Amino acid sequence: MPHTTHITRGKVFLVGAGPGDPELLTLKAARLLASADVVLIDDLASNEMLSLCPQARVVHVGKRGGCKSTPQAFIEKLLVREASAGNKVVRLKGGDPSIFGRAGEEIAALEAANIEYEIIPGITAGVAAASQVATSLTHRDYAQGVAFITAHGAEGAAIDWSALAQAKLTLVVYMGVSRAGQLQTDIIAGGMAVDTPVLAVENASRSDVRIVVSTIQAMHHDFAREQLQSPAVLLIGEALKDRAVQLAKAALYEQQRSLVVAQA
Ligand code: SAH
Repeated sequence: MPHTTHITRGKVFLVGAGPGDPELLTLKAARLLASADVVLIDDLASNEMLSLCPQARVVHVGKRGGCKSTPQAFIEKLLVREASAGNKVVRLKGGDPSIFGRAGEEIAALEAANIEYEIIPGITAGVAAASQVATSLTHRDYAQGVAFITAHGAEGAAIDWSALAQAKLTLVVYMGVSRAGQLQTDIIAGGMAVDTPVLAVENASRSDVRIVVSTIQAMHHDFAREQLQSPAVLLIGEALKDRAVQLAKAALYEQQRSLVVAQA
């Protein structure tokens, strides 16, 4: 008989919290929250969700009051430490963990420490934004697919905008608000038509959602004028053309409060 030692170890769940509306949380995420020992929560994951885990010790690891985010290395150490102590740990992340959620780094840290883990998907902000403006991201006449893009590339990593301009894709740009000027310059330099529609969706799925309708040519100016705030995603592409026109008309004629017309 081989000798086996039983070691009690915890487990880490990397859980997508969705874009903000607690009803967009999965049943699985809610169940895991209700039985977690420790919850590490990002600032993009809605605090409302904490009512689902009153029993858990909660650690806020996002930006608070304009402070810098908790360093990623610290979060990884904390995950390993808590799970090694036998705890069931939920790492609650905004949207989906696999979309600009540092899941790759956390998985690597957990594997290196031999900690068991599981990933629970969530609704990513770009998809929530599409539902918010009631559009398809893949209108079959205009788009053959979707690209999730960060405007905040890793140090020095340039996005190949000319390749994207050639491809018939709808672009969903994350983290683009504070970089809208550079983004606009880069997209135009990449050769994308300047009248391509841009729909910016701020606070998708939350009660304070705002939509700014613009184009590549006008986006920087329009976002500044409307004081577009983070978090917002930008939906860019011909697939949005009909919806952009409709939204602009709806706002002009109905003066919807949540809708800001930047470009008729
Ligand atoms: N993992 C997340 C993305 C994290 S990166 C996801 O899948 O959604 C952070 C960026 O996500 C923000 O800069 C913004 O571009 C976007 N974002 C997150 N929540 C949002 C929301 N409710 N509305 C609009 N954009 C959002």
